[in-house]
Amino acid sequence: MSEGINTEFTSEIKELGVIPIAEQVLARNQEVCGVISNIRDIIVPHTQRRDSSRFFTIVDPSTGTLGGRKIQSFHSQKECLPMGQVGDILICRGLTLSDFQGEVRGVLSARYFSASWTTLSIHDLKPIPEVVTDFIASPKNMAIAKVLQKWYKQTGCPLPPTPGDGSREKSVEKSKNELTYFRGKPFLTTAQIGEGLFAYCNFIGVYLGCRYANVSMTLSLTDFTVNPHTGGATKPSYGVSPDVILLCTLWDEHAENCPKLERGDYIMILNGRRKINSHGVLEISIHGDVLSPVYIQKVIKLSPDDERLDDIKARSNSANEHSKNVADPKNTGEKPSNLLYTESIELKEARSVITSPIILPLTTFLQMQTDGVAGKLYNIRGCVTDFRALDPAEWFLRWCLKCEKYSARFLKTCKSCKNPLSDLKYRFCLFLEDARGDQLYIFCIGSNIYNLFPGLPPSLALESVEMAEQLYARMLKLCPKKDDAKTYLDFRVKCIQGSGPRNLAKYALKDTKFYFE
Ligand SMILES: [Zn+2]
Repeated sequence: MSEGINTEFTSEIKELGVIPIAEQVLARNQEVCGVISNIRDIIVPHTQRRDSSRFFTIVDPSTGTLGGRKIQSFHSQKECLPMGQVGDILICRGLTLSDFQGEVRGVLSARYFSASWTTLSIHDLKPIPEVVTDFIASPKNMAIAKVLQKWYKQTGCPLPPTPGDGSREKSVEKSKNELTYFRGKPFLTTAQIGEGLFAYCNFIGVYLGCRYANVSMTLSLTDFTVNPHTGGATKPSYGVSPDVILLCTLWDEHAENCPKLERGDYIMILNGRRKINSHGVLEISIHGDVLSPVYIQKVIKLSPDDERLDDIKARSNSANEHSKNVADPKNTGEKPSNLLYTESIELKEARSVITSPIILPLTTFLQMQTDGVAGKLYNIRGCVTDFRALDPAEWFLRWCLKCEKYSARFLKTCKSCKNPLSDLKYRFCLFLEDARGDQLYIFCIGSNIYNLFPGLPPSLALESVEMAEQLYARMLKLCPKKDDAKTYLDFRVKCIQGSGPRNLAKYALKDTKFYFE
């Protein structure tokens, strides 16, 4: 394991104020530079719910060429995963260093941090033209890259082909031209943009209509996923529920150069900036850039047979199957969808969204149980294996606002203050299992989870038999049958009781919503 370990070059890296790879400890949001010593093929999952992933190892003079940091990268778009060849220099930002069975490993996940990366040629330290991203290397990055270049060249390891000479093309996956500049930005759905984990993103949607202002125009788009920030709007716009509309405001040259669009056209928005506007509505916007020497078209009309539309078409179809009066907007010019009222009713697969803007790293159940500090928040990922109570009639409690106490659902007045009880809350337990096979149960109770099932607050769920059945159906969807593929969901939990010598810590669900699509 000692090949290439070099204390002189390691000291040079330290002098730049950077911790060499071998000395890094568990931490989040780290910037790490190294030479790629191993890079595996991209793994594309069979279901859209999982991210594509790619495993690679980077080395530096502190690790030698046989050691190094193993890094697993995840992204919903395989094109956005790190690329390069053995011998290229890779710079990653937003890396989480976590414990993997006693070994420090890196996780580069665009879902939890704005993870970004670039690949430089070991020959000239320039970005590899075949894998352009919008990552800008800092002077410090470049200084480390110089040290890595000097070190790696003297190790005698074979160098990769020179970039741009054509011999690399086979191993570097090429994407469509217009994606090249924005590859570092993830393609997100409206629901994902709503999660607020990214300031900038790319988006593909169906054009519904447009409003003009002086120097801007605002497009209404849908991609058939749920917008969690509608500012309380309920009135359909362009015949579509506000729940599924994403606004996109174009300014200046982007408004001037917007392609001619007709309702039902598919468009791609590149590098949109996420914001919640003054009405509390989620939108993305594209501002002009007078300083930019080149104009880059960021609103692109896609041909209906473009393969990038597969996801959105699948969502549109599944929505249409469930909705009698909804037709393909492309064929009929009718309402593209009022599915979103139906989407909350017709359940296919479960999905969770963490609604809090606080970003936390993922924790395994074991890590969380070991930590278990009362009041602390954690993000966990697991599949629901069971729930309690088994009888949905027991999933409700009444809450006395005055005494701040729970009472049984059938009680009409609070036992303490004798005031009438009207406020209903959910109360149940979910049993979870994480990818390591560890088990955990979490309490789901009260105002923390009032909106756990969007569109189905506890008061509504008790209003009619149909609604109660819907609630039960959603719960069943959360825990798929044994032979089904496991549905991993993310949960934000709060430790409500710290661990003691005789008890495990207890956790309550918070800031999480379940959607079914
Ligand atoms: Zn009371």
